[in-house]
Amino acid sequence: MHNHVIVVGGGAAGLVAAIAAAREGSHVTILEHNDRVGKKILVTGNGKCNMTNQNMGSEYYRSNNPGFVEQVLWKIPSETILRFFEELGIRTVDKNGYVYPASGQASSVLDVLRMELSYHNVVVETNVHVDEIRKIKDKIQVKVVCGEGKEKKYYEADSVILACGSLAGNHTGNDGSGYELARKMGHHIYKPLPALVQLRSKGDFLKQWAGVRVDGAVSIWIDGECIAKDRGEIQLTDYGISGIPVFQVSRFVSEALERKKQVLARLDFFPDMNRHGLYRYLEKRFEDCPYKSLDDMMVGLLNKKLSSVLVKEAQMDGKRNWSSFSKVEKNRFCEILDDFTLPIYGTNSFAQAQVCMGGVDTKEINGKTMESQKMSGVYFAGEMIDVDGICGGYNLHFAWATGLIAGKHAGGKNKI
Ligand SMILES: Cc1cc2nc3c(=O)[nH]c(=O)nc-3n(C[C@H](O)[C@H](O)[C@H](O)COP(=O)(O)OP(=O)(O)OC[C@H]3O[C@@H](n4cnc5c(N)ncnc54)[C@H](O)[C@@H]3O)c2cc1C
Repeated sequence: MHNHVIVVGGGAAGLVAAIAAAREGSHVTILEHNDRVGKKILVTGNGKCNMTNQNMGSEYYRSNNPGFVEQVLWKIPSETILRFFEELGIRTVDKNGYVYPASGQASSVLDVLRMELSYHNVVVETNVHVDEIRKIKDKIQVKVVCGEGKEKKYYEADSVILACGSLAGNHTGNDGSGYELARKMGHHIYKPLPALVQLRSKGDFLKQWAGVRVDGAVSIWIDGECIAKDRGEIQLTDYGISGIPVFQVSRFVSEALERKKQVLARLDFFPDMNRHGLYRYLEKRFEDCPYKSLDDMMVGLLNKKLSSVLVKEAQMDGKRNWSSFSKVEKNRFCEILDDFTLPIYGTNSFAQAQVCMGGVDTKEINGKTMESQKMSGVYFAGEMIDVDGICGGYNLHFAWATGLIAGKHAGGKNKI
């Protein structure tokens, strides 16, 4: 008799877990409530799939238990993931450490995973929603509902891998039901909150700067303390701010807003200059063209839509000549350019978030095997675990890595 492993969720973590378990000689069934597996993989990295990162380290992740991430990365560094995919047929390209399939298509990553699943005769059942997991003697019973919830079916397994993802990007089928399954087994769940997400503010100027992309730095201030900063292309939108640097700091905002703290985002549109340097630079621009009004002087310096917002917010009359402003006014203008303060009132929803922070408490998961410490024979993999990474391939890496570990241990469990 083969060891039977059921994998709940056919996302990045579940598909890799199924392959790893099958390679151990187990009979594997994937239960997926979408009509097909791997939907989210297809939208990663704007359809190009940033699979992992060569600069791997626990400092790129957040968790209530950082030691857990270290254990996973020590076992499965990025080289292991690269080799795994290379052996499945994916040639990769490295862009400053960010790794992508050379095809430029996330679909090739999903395709090779599906081919390997099929080679190992892994059974893939779609349109089945796992509703309950119970231990019955030394077997695990999995209850599913299908056919618009009317039909119930029961499966029996020796091991179950829960790889249900999170609430993020919920247009790809994520409903958070995995948390409920884990909770019913006695697991503690850290409240899931959107991470890698856009930040929302208020103000008439938002409509005016919408659509502008600008190189800058963003820092997040909570109760007068800077808790995160990043630099890169900031996208100014009609609801607030977006772009990779904003995503990178967003999980701290989610956390602070959840604790009802006041959050400020401070934007520096001249991150390469200090305040004095910026002042000197504006003086020089005036000296070069003393005939220009402030509005004209700003042409060629920043996007016009952004300049006009900044001039207005500094309460400067753009028609006036730079030399007509007092030193105090000029300083105030410099402050708006390099320290534009934006109160943050919220984040976008789970649907727009790339990942969730929070999830299954890692103190209740064996970091060497991914086995639950609440119900033996049950394993966890992927984003439903309380670990979130920054942008750059870190979240997929964690999904693949935990999938490999969980699959290997669940699949090899009853080996003689
Ligand atoms: C737009 C977008 C772009 C991204 N880009 C990147 C990127 O380039 N690089 C990167 O590293 N990360 C990226 N991420 C994050 C990354 O995609 C996720 O962290 C990763 O896919 C998580 O994998 P997972 O298997 O844990 O979860 P998922 O991929 O979400 O898979 C979970 C699966 O379980 C199924 N499921 C859930 N509950 C049940 C149930 N009760 N019964 C049956 N099935 C169930 C779901 O339908 C889903 O198929 C991106 C995310 C988004 C939304």
